Amino acid sequence: MVHVDRFAVTHIEDQEGRSVSLPRRSGVRHSFGAAWRFLGAGMVLAAALLLAGAPGAYAQQGERTQFRPGWNIFSPQQDVQVGQKAAQDAEKKLPLCNDPKVDAYLTQLGKRLAAKAPTGGVQYPFEFHCVNDKAINAFALPGGYVFVNRGTIEAADNEAQLAAVMAHELSHVALRHGTSQASKAQAVSLPIAILGGILGGSAMGSLVTQLGAFSVGSVLLKYSRTAETQADVMGTQILYDTGYDPRAMAQFFEKLEAESKGKNPPEFFSDHPSPEHRVERVDEEIDRLGGPPSNAHRDSPEFQAIRHEVLALPVAPSAKDKRGAPGGGEAGKPSAPSGRYAAYQGSAFSLKHPDNWKKYGEGQAVSFAPDGGVAQDRNGQDALAYGMIINVADPQGDPTAVNALEESTHRLLDELQNANPGMRIARQPQRVRLNGQRALSTYLSNDSPLGGQETDWILTVLRPEGLLYFICVAPEREYGNYDSAFVNVLDSVRFAR
Ligand SMILES: [Zn+2]
Repeated sequence: MVHVDRFAVTHIEDQEGRSVSLPRRSGVRHSFGAAWRFLGAGMVLAAALLLAGAPGAYAQQGERTQFRPGWNIFSPQQDVQVGQKAAQDAEKKLPLCNDPKVDAYLTQLGKRLAAKAPTGGVQYPFEFHCVNDKAINAFALPGGYVFVNRGTIEAADNEAQLAAVMAHELSHVALRHGTSQASKAQAVSLPIAILGGILGGSAMGSLVTQLGAFSVGSVLLKYSRTAETQADVMGTQILYDTGYDPRAMAQFFEKLEAESKGKNPPEFFSDHPSPEHRVERVDEEIDRLGGPPSNAHRDSPEFQAIRHEVLALPVAPSAKDKRGAPGGGEAGKPSAPSGRYAAYQGSAFSLKHPDNWKKYGEGQAVSFAPDGGVAQDRNGQDALAYGMIINVADPQGDPTAVNALEESTHRLLDELQNANPGMRIARQPQRVRLNGQRALSTYLSNDSPLGGQETDWILTVLRPEGLLYFICVAPEREYGNYDSAFVNVLDSVRFAR
């Protein structure tokens, strides 16, 4: 876990009179990748053949499309049992946000939506959790245990879009897609027992237990494209009935698809396969409902406050059970930072770094990286994927002004963002101390040259030679393995005077 406050007590131990002339160009480029991506490169969203709204899946009554849950060997009460067990297991296996404000917000939003979900009179317990995973995804377990990744909250433009994802999930619950899917899977392995209706109480009990072990590829979360269409359409109705702009459903999915063109689709689509004509089907349902209401609710200050809260959350130390997203290659990972430290003495400062990190750059700004820490980005350029870059930028305005550090840091961040279109500020600059000097600590989220996202932690400090900055880089998923090494290196920094 990242706590910058540790720097507040860095001991002061200035070294004697070395003059300072830190160079301007780094040996390793700060090439943080290109556009903001959800996952690695490659796959295009190729919608497979779909029997859109398969006949018999729903019947039409009046204007609004009506659905009923599919064939199911479980009772709604067993949905709750299965879901409760699986949710307890998921809570152990997944990194949760553990932010009471975020959970309270999700719960009040989720309950308002759930109140409009047609459950056929069944009272599901409905619980809502925030998962500390920046992948854009959400899932719902039977019985109403809904998990929303922080990445979904971060990616939503407004409350209606987040509500759309949650309404989609709640529709899977109301339509009992998880246990319906599990029923079909059981029917394949136990056809006679089930079709003969002789599956007794204890057999059902063991099925419930078996399904309650949460796993990545759980049959409970394998939805068909037909189920996806149903969840979209019912979710649109829920949005409408709750007073949200029902167009948000299509807008969010369009946005995800547009932003993932030519790249891997967001993780959401690996759990919720994208049905054909998704947007058209949602639009059609809005027409059936009589069009978007003129005073439909789109956003709230609460949502924007929660979104900022979530953006500022530290990344999870490690995803204990990375849900099965494609493309997260683990090959060629550098070895972990050594616990032994080697000394580096520059003209402007000294520091200690893990002794399995090499120094890159001579006479110019320096970088430290483990073997395999420098990767080729998409343009074939060397880019730092693991390690630390140290460089100096021109200060902004009068370096003796009170806010010179803030202004210079903001300009540096602007420049970095201009050069890296995918870069976003995950946590605004906060005051810390570095070797007794005022410094600012900022967290950024960016594309890793290895694919996926990386976390960039930047410390800036004004020195006679300019704005000295330290960028600590690691893939987001592994950042927790590097955090303490970064902290130790920064704690060891001693300025030359
Ligand atoms: Zn879905």
